[in-house]
Amino acid sequence: MTREPDDSSKQLAQRVGAVASLCEVASTEQLSTSIYQVALRGNARTLAGTPGNDVMIRLDDDKGRHVRRRYSVRGLDEGTDEFTLWITIEHEGPGSIWVKAAQPGDLVDVIGPRGKIALDPLADWHLFVGDASGLAAFYRMAESIEVPSRAIFIVEIDAADDAVSAPFGEGLGVTGIFVDRQHRSMSDAAGLLSGLAAFALPPDTGHAYLFGEFHVMRVLQEALLDRGLEPEQISHKAFWRSGRSNAEHGEPEKIED
Ligand SMILES: Cc1cc2nc3c(=O)[nH]c(=O)nc-3n(C[C@H](O)[C@H](O)[C@H](O)COP(=O)(O)OP(=O)(O)OC[C@H]3O[C@@H](n4cnc5c(N)ncnc54)[C@H](O)[C@@H]3O)c2cc1C
Repeated sequence: MTREPDDSSKQLAQRVGAVASLCEVASTEQLSTSIYQVALRGNARTLAGTPGNDVMIRLDDDKGRHVRRRYSVRGLDEGTDEFTLWITIEHEGPGSIWVKAAQPGDLVDVIGPRGKIALDPLADWHLFVGDASGLAAFYRMAESIEVPSRAIFIVEIDAADDAVSAPFGEGLGVTGIFVDRQHRSMSDAAGLLSGLAAFALPPDTGHAYLFGEFHVMRVLQEALLDRGLEPEQISHKAFWRSGRSNAEHGEPEKIED
């Protein structure tokens, strides 16, 4: 078996200024009803980039076509040359199917680091809003906040055990609000809006990071502008889109409904 990534991955990596590597699945673990953790081994330091970055993995869809899926890096262990991803599984798609079946020793093409959203080093507080698909990025970014500072998480979840926590160091004031979706539609922002409404934004200058469903991200961005944040205080990225598979390149399609 070849130990090189596919030529298409090498070419794509070159185009986007990243690196293509063949990684080995080191372990998988179901963390909660909706979240699987997978640890990948190989070229970890480079692929993992900085907090907020993601990697792109090459998978097959149910018709045997190659597709790419993007997942934020949750953690990096340079000692074992491993990095971890948290992948949501309560839907059917190439990504969720792959992670549930992945076995130690499996090889996968990985391109990284990807992504342009990083922690705002000048912000006095950091507000992370989204769903379970954003947790890996939220927690890794929050772990990199220079203390003393404040991190606020407002995250919509489908099952109580999806409120997976993370250990943060002393000096970081942490507020976590987990909102139960209560069977609302995946594109309905009402849950996160009520979570946001229940929270008084701290004084001084903050930065909001919005990662989650396409329609919900749009509504939340407007809501935060209405709350007085300036556009440059909001970083947002649609990670997936209700009712549609992500496109071959791994991002939700931006066409109108
Ligand atoms: C920059 C970036 C970083 C990302 N980081 C992460 C991450 O760390 N963890 C993570 O889990 N995802 C992350 N995603 C989203 C992930 O790439 C997509 O959810 C991906 O489409 C899932 O792929 P899939 O093949 O399983 O399902 P797809 O083939 O894309 O979709 C199949 C069906 O499942 C639905 N679906 C997709 N995702 C979800 C979901 N989360 N909840 C409910 N229904 C869903 C779709 O609407 C569709 O109907 C990220 C996306 C981007 C662009």
